[in-house]
Amino acid sequence: MSSTPSDVQKRERDGDSSTPSNHPLGVLGDLTRDTHFWFEDGNVVLVSQNIGFKVYQGLLASQSPVFQDLFASASHAEETYEGSPVVRLCDTPECLRYLLPYLLPTKCLPIPTDISMDKEDQYTQLSVLILLADKYQIESVAQQAIECLKTVFTDSFDRWDARPEADGLHARADSQPSTSHRLRAINAVHLARITDTPSVLPLALYHCALLGDKVADGWTRDDGTVQRLSAGHLERAMGGYKHLCEKREGFLDSLFRASPSAECRTQILCGELLQILREQGVGVYYETPALLDRPSGWTFRMPLCQPCTRELEAREKAQRRDLWKKLPDIFDLTEEVKVWGA
Ligand SMILES: [Zn+2]
Repeated sequence: MSSTPSDVQKRERDGDSSTPSNHPLGVLGDLTRDTHFWFEDGNVVLVSQNIGFKVYQGLLASQSPVFQDLFASASHAEETYEGSPVVRLCDTPECLRYLLPYLLPTKCLPIPTDISMDKEDQYTQLSVLILLADKYQIESVAQQAIECLKTVFTDSFDRWDARPEADGLHARADSQPSTSHRLRAINAVHLARITDTPSVLPLALYHCALLGDKVADGWTRDDGTVQRLSAGHLERAMGGYKHLCEKREGFLDSLFRASPSAECRTQILCGELLQILREQGVGVYYETPALLDRPSGWTFRMPLCQPCTRELEAREKAQRRDLWKKLPDIFDLTEEVKVWGA
């Protein structure tokens, strides 16, 4: 979330004279006080773009060795605002507003333990917390936020299968995780890399793989900058996509080439329905080889009898569990991911 050359150029194009690199002193003249994080008795002013945050050095330094160093150098700095030393940060004001409540709490603020990938603001907040906690070495925030990321990009098949959005979204015939949901996985791969959390990678790369060509476009952050997979991870996503494509025929066969249930009283009808389902499955999985997603929407619209439905569900879950176990292998991650849940 750092300012990049393109941000600076954009601000220049927009006629914003507060570009720090060009007008370091002009900014302070136009400084806008943040509405939440401006404590009159604070003893340092963090400046991001033209927003000032007057906060407490000691509290921040005690939680972050990086802030400690910044404040130590700021005490000799020439730049002050109303007598308080100024520390300029390249993180955006929005990013700081995500982080500061955890360092200067005015109310009890637990870091979420689980979020929905379909809620963009929740994911953005989690991503910013991990990035900034890592950057400023704020251990307690980093640990909790990474635990949440590990819940979202889980290594447990049962957790993946029980996620709330699986029912809401996947129960519809036309639905799979949205493209924006899968695009966030590009960011998750980055977070996994910088925080050394490899267990996030198999599921994140699965989502990346299913983006198809769109994966190369990268994930666009709120500030307009774009994050892309590294060359190595892009290659793994593409290799994994190929593996998934190779597996879909066998996957469909084991679901639908089975005989109707021994308890079935409409063997001929259910046998024909299984054939029709297989043909539909070809259409669904050849569009996107999303073999781990629950296919219940399109499969269970067919009026299979109860015993046949039950057995199909069991085969389907067993197939996906089996595929789950192979995810690190499919994405060439067996070196990094030593422990992988079943
Ligand atoms: Zn039947």
